[in-house]
Amino acid sequence: MPYNSREPGAPAASGDIPLSVPNIGGNEWHYVKECLDTGWVSSVGAFVERFEREFAAAVDAPFAVALSTGTAALHVALLLAGVGPEDEVVLPALSFIAPANAVRYTGAIPVFLDVEPEYWQLDPAAVRAFLEEGCERRSGILRNRVTGRRVAAILPVDILGHPCDLDPLHDLAVRAGLAIVEDATESLGARYRDRLLGSISALSCFSFNGNKLLTTGGGGMLTTADGEMARRARYLSTQAKDDPVEFVHGAVGFNYRLTNVQAAMGCAQLERLEEFLEVKRRIAARYDEAFRKVPGLVPMPQAPWARSAWWLYTVRVTEETFGRSSRDVMHALDAVGIQTRPLWQPLHRSPAHRDAVTTPCPVAERLQQECLSLPCSTGLTAEEQERVIESVLTG
Ligand SMILES: *Cc1c(COP(=O)(O)O)cnc(C)c1O
Repeated sequence: MPYNSREPGAPAASGDIPLSVPNIGGNEWHYVKECLDTGWVSSVGAFVERFEREFAAAVDAPFAVALSTGTAALHVALLLAGVGPEDEVVLPALSFIAPANAVRYTGAIPVFLDVEPEYWQLDPAAVRAFLEEGCERRSGILRNRVTGRRVAAILPVDILGHPCDLDPLHDLAVRAGLAIVEDATESLGARYRDRLLGSISALSCFSFNGNKLLTTGGGGMLTTADGEMARRARYLSTQAKDDPVEFVHGAVGFNYRLTNVQAAMGCAQLERLEEFLEVKRRIAARYDEAFRKVPGLVPMPQAPWARSAWWLYTVRVTEETFGRSSRDVMHALDAVGIQTRPLWQPLHRSPAHRDAVTTPCPVAERLQQECLSLPCSTGLTAEEQERVIESVLTG
């Protein structure tokens, strides 16, 4: 089996260098054992509350609600933002598919717009063009000129550890009367103009999947400054229980809460957030140093207004100048047991979303062709990273 076909996040064979694997060396055993010993294993328990409290503090958000996955967090956040059937939600074409799927779960339709070439994030100019030229206001409601559907929200996705340019996106949303649901699942710990992601948008979502910066095996978090939103998120994610004794439910809810066992692991992981961010920065700096002067290689960017979390270090390979394509490099590294990954198929090309609204997205397509994510686990040793760099440069 080619090494690259392994699931990211799966443990590696000895000698192999995986893309990104969990780092579980803190209090995880200790806290999880406490759940097992006391019988508090399900979605009620002290660790759930503690994880929410400590996570909220870690991202400067007044409230955090722990959910079963990042995708569930996105789904609930979109519902709280008032997104519903036959609405449209704007999101970048270059992203993992989860946010587009979450849009679909509400019955809404994604609108895929291009990313900008410099930092690879949702392009505010593309959003402005869509809202100003592609939409019109009819009886006070902003509608897509072509489909006639209401445009309800903007869903910026902070990809690979780097924030979107949030101020212009927020300005556009305020002016058009749209909600913002931020997918910060890949960028925990990143800052936009000195503010931590999770404290900026009305609703922000995080993930603790196996390959994210912190992991609970699977898990998610929604942060907000609005206590009523947090209360409704808890309500919807626990089957909308009005009377817990008499089984009265006020709405069609979801079984989306994080369990106490997962939250216990989350508390232990969270204790190491700063350490993990520091390691990620170091890994990124070493890759940057090695690639900066090589013609045809563009290191992962960081905007002057951003502090990246460097979640998944990604290099851009220009075939014409470098002499080999990103996929050539991928196969060469694969052959020596080094796992790399291209970026996601742009969502406007995804068969799963073929009936979405789309515009041409040449930047997303080019980046998907040229970008390659390199091993950057927090447990990566300097020697392993040297091996990766050597293999990229000499192929
Ligand atoms: C990981 C991820 C999610 C959420 O993933 P879950 O596996 O559901 O926790 C959502 N959006 C993006 C962009 C992601 O990378």
